[in-house]
Amino acid sequence: MAGFIDERLLFDLIEKAKNPSAVRVSEVICKAKEMKGLSLEETAVLMQAEGEDRAEEIFHAAREVKFGIYGKRLVLFAPLYVTNECGNNCLYCAFRRDNKDLVRKTLTIDELKRETQILEDMGHKRILLVYGEAHGIKLIAETVEAVYSVKSGNGEIRRANVNAAPMSVDDFKTLKATGIGTYQCFQETYHSETFAKMHPSGNKSNYEWRLYALHRAQQAGIDDVALGVLYGLFDWKFDTLALLMHAQALESEFGVGPHTISFPRMEPALNSDVACSPPYPVSDFDMKRVVAILRLAVPYTGLILTTRESPEMRKELFDMGVSQLSAGSRTNPGGYYDAREHAPESEQFTLGDTRPLDEVINDIARMGYVPSFCTACYRLGRTGGDFMSIAKPGLIKEFCLPNALMTFKEYLVDYASDATKASGAATISDQIQDVANHTRRKETSDRLELIENGERDFYF
Ligand code: SAM
Ligand code: SF4
Repeated sequence: MAGFIDERLLFDLIEKAKNPSAVRVSEVICKAKEMKGLSLEETAVLMQAEGEDRAEEIFHAAREVKFGIYGKRLVLFAPLYVTNECGNNCLYCAFRRDNKDLVRKTLTIDELKRETQILEDMGHKRILLVYGEAHGIKLIAETVEAVYSVKSGNGEIRRANVNAAPMSVDDFKTLKATGIGTYQCFQETYHSETFAKMHPSGNKSNYEWRLYALHRAQQAGIDDVALGVLYGLFDWKFDTLALLMHAQALESEFGVGPHTISFPRMEPALNSDVACSPPYPVSDFDMKRVVAILRLAVPYTGLILTTRESPEMRKELFDMGVSQLSAGSRTNPGGYYDAREHAPESEQFTLGDTRPLDEVINDIARMGYVPSFCTACYRLGRTGGDFMSIAKPGLIKEFCLPNALMTFKEYLVDYASDATKASGAATISDQIQDVANHTRRKETSDRLELIENGERDFYF
């Protein structure tokens, strides 16, 4: 037992659920369609439902739940890497201390502001700040504040999320005071023996300090916290079930589970044998199972997809349950500025999708999705439990779809290419019909016109 992660119980649940009957799988799928989530035992049944036909049933149910709750929206963000200096030695990461071939860099405040401006000029409103573990809370707080201070034309960062090493409750209080959105920390693997092997030295070798990071963040008042597993380190069934056990632990202690879950698959990284040949590789088919099963197990938790996946895989995963994705990303400090000059030389891992934001948006819009830059809930204080209480079928659509359409319209007017303007206009006129409440639809349509005429930043 490592903290609240009961490894034996998890292995038992997986073992007991082996070869489930068709009737049992159907029962669990029926329950999942009620959109109230699943127990660990039920989730294990879906994981052990092997074969293409069973998987197709699960995918179908996940699509139904995804569209029932989220509709066609996809929230967009970009990562902004602040520093690749790190005191840890995670065997899978190019930033690890012993990787002497990596060019080290921590952005100065001026460089950070330049990166922020480039992202704003692309049209981003929401970013994820990422840090190696070398500097502590002072740098993190200063950089979050610097990001919020940059305004470029109609551009501004309206929500800055943070992915940084675990900290003390006091440091989390300082972080909260900067006005961050979500605090994100991935356990990487919940299997303590594998965790120890992969993190041989540095602060990150302390499994429990990391496991309780989100508890401490909650204690400090950060109520949007985010979980993740790095797929490829250990068995996907164990790690997915353990992640859900973590979500339950947060829910039972703080009354609210994680705001989002990430499921990066390990990508090749400079001088990393582990990253170039993962011990437990996860196939595309199993990755789809992971996403679909998470969608059914925790229907109201956002699922985040990153540029680590190829454009083809991303398309498949949108339908299966993804609600947020990064686009136009660079994973090296200064990467957005450098990308104008030369190829990256200090990136964290190799990207699967390197297309510019506008191309991704055009693609998404042509597929019938609504790209959203909405940050309304966080700005109206609808976070933590308050967010979850509005996150019911119908209600998300009543708030989120109009907000998505309005922020997408801002993007089209201020930043889009002519091709994206055309596909985007078609998407908006189609999707506005899905705003069920007549008054809300009329208000949205009026505001879209105001945006066309130069007004900005509307939200419900
Ligand atoms: N240093 C902090 C930490 O480790 O929590 C935060 C930044 S770290 C760069 C963010 C995440 O990158 C890690 O939690 C890990 O899951 C992911 N990562 C590291 N190496 C990776 C690789 N080779 N492929 C994909 N993701 C990777
Ligand atoms: Fe450092 Fe994070 Fe990379 Fe580990 S994953 S080496 S802690 S940046």
